[in-house]
Amino acid sequence: MKVAVVGSGQLARMMALSAWPMGIQFSYLVQQGDSLDPITSLGDVIYDEEYPEAEALYKALGEPDVITVEKEAVDTDRLKALQAFCPVYPDPKMLETCRHRGLEKSWVNEQGVDVAPYRRTGNRQEILAALDAIGYPAILKTCTGGYDGYGQWRIKSAEDAAALDEEVCNLDCVLEGFVNFKREVSMIAVRNAEGESCFYPLTENLHRDGTLLTSKAPAPNLTPELQQQAEEIANKLLAASNYVGILAIEFFVTDLDGKEHLVVNEMAPRVHNSGHWTQLGCISSQFNNHIRAITGLPLGNTQAMKITGMVNLLGVEMDNSVLVNSDQQLHSYGKSLRPGRKMGHINLVADSYQDLDAQINATLEKVYPEG
Ligand code: AMP
Repeated sequence: MKVAVVGSGQLARMMALSAWPMGIQFSYLVQQGDSLDPITSLGDVIYDEEYPEAEALYKALGEPDVITVEKEAVDTDRLKALQAFCPVYPDPKMLETCRHRGLEKSWVNEQGVDVAPYRRTGNRQEILAALDAIGYPAILKTCTGGYDGYGQWRIKSAEDAAALDEEVCNLDCVLEGFVNFKREVSMIAVRNAEGESCFYPLTENLHRDGTLLTSKAPAPNLTPELQQQAEEIANKLLAASNYVGILAIEFFVTDLDGKEHLVVNEMAPRVHNSGHWTQLGCISSQFNNHIRAITGLPLGNTQAMKITGMVNLLGVEMDNSVLVNSDQQLHSYGKSLRPGRKMGHINLVADSYQDLDAQINATLEKVYPEG
C-alpha cells in the first residue's frame, strides 16, 4: 500500500509515522521552497513544478493507491486531475469549501448547523452595513489564507472600524459576530469509503493569540448530551460531503436557554492539532485512523483510555528534559526555530482532572518561563 501526501509538515510526518508499523509507504508532493525537515527519511519527495502532466506526476509519486493532504491550501485543480488515477481523500471539492470561510459557513448552514452570525464583505461600506446588522464586538476574517489568528481583525467599536486600513476593507472577508462562548471544544471525526464513521470524545481547547496552546480530552465535565450533539453534527457534515478521512470540527460551546449549545467555528478537512492527544490517549490515534479510513482498512478504536492533555511548543525548542514526569511524551517536528512556530507538542495522561490541570500548568511554566 502506498499513500501520497500533499505537504511536508508535521501532520504529514505524524501520518507517516503512525502508518509505518502497518508497512505503508509514503511519498510527498511539495513545492519549491517548502520546508522538508519534518518528513526527512520518511519517503520520496516530488516537486510539483517538475511534472506539469497529471499522469507523469502520478507516476513520479510512485503510483500511490490513494492521495491525501495535510493542509487546505493546495492546488485543487491538480488534485482533480490526479483523481483520474487514484482516489483523492478528502474530495478536493470539500477542501475548496473548507478553505474559504464564506463558502464553509454557508455550506455548514445549509446542513442545518449553526455558525456565528456573519456577513460576507468586500469593502468598507459592506463592513459598516454588516456591523449595523450584527453589532459590536465583531471579528473581520479574510475568507482565504488566514489561519491561527492571522488575517483577523477584532472590531470592538466604531473607532476600531474607522481605523481599518482601506486595503484590509477591500479583502474578501466575513464579518462575524463575537460569540460569547463558555469554552471551545473540537470534534475529531473519521469516516471511511463504506460510510462507517467513528468519533473521538470532544476535546477542550485553549488558544493564545488565535493559536492552540493546550487541549484536554475528554473535555472536562463532558456530558453525554454534548457529545451526542457534536456527533450528530459531525455525522451530518460527513454524510453530506460523502467524506473519507479525518474531519476536525471546531465549536464554540454557548448557552441556549440554560443548555449547552454547539456553534461551528470552523472545519479542518484533515488531521488536526486538537487531536494530537489521541497519540497517547487512544488505541488508534487520529493519524492512524486517517490512514485506515483512506486505505479502506476497518477503523480503529477511538475511545479515550485515560484523561489526556496536550501542550503545544510554540516558538521554543525542547528536548526530553522538559517533561515533568514519566506519564508525558515529547513529539518534536524537526523544524528550525522561528518565533511562534509550531515546533512540537507534549502529550500527557492524568489520573484525574485535577492532576491534568496540575501537569498542564507545570508543563506550561517549564516551557514558557516568561509566561
Ligand atoms: P479561527 O482562526 O477562526 O479559529 O479563530 C481563532 C480563535 O479566535 C478561535 O479559536 C477563538 O478563540 C477566537 N474567535 C474566532 N472567531 C470568534 C468569534 N466569532 N467569537 C469569539 N471568538 C472567536
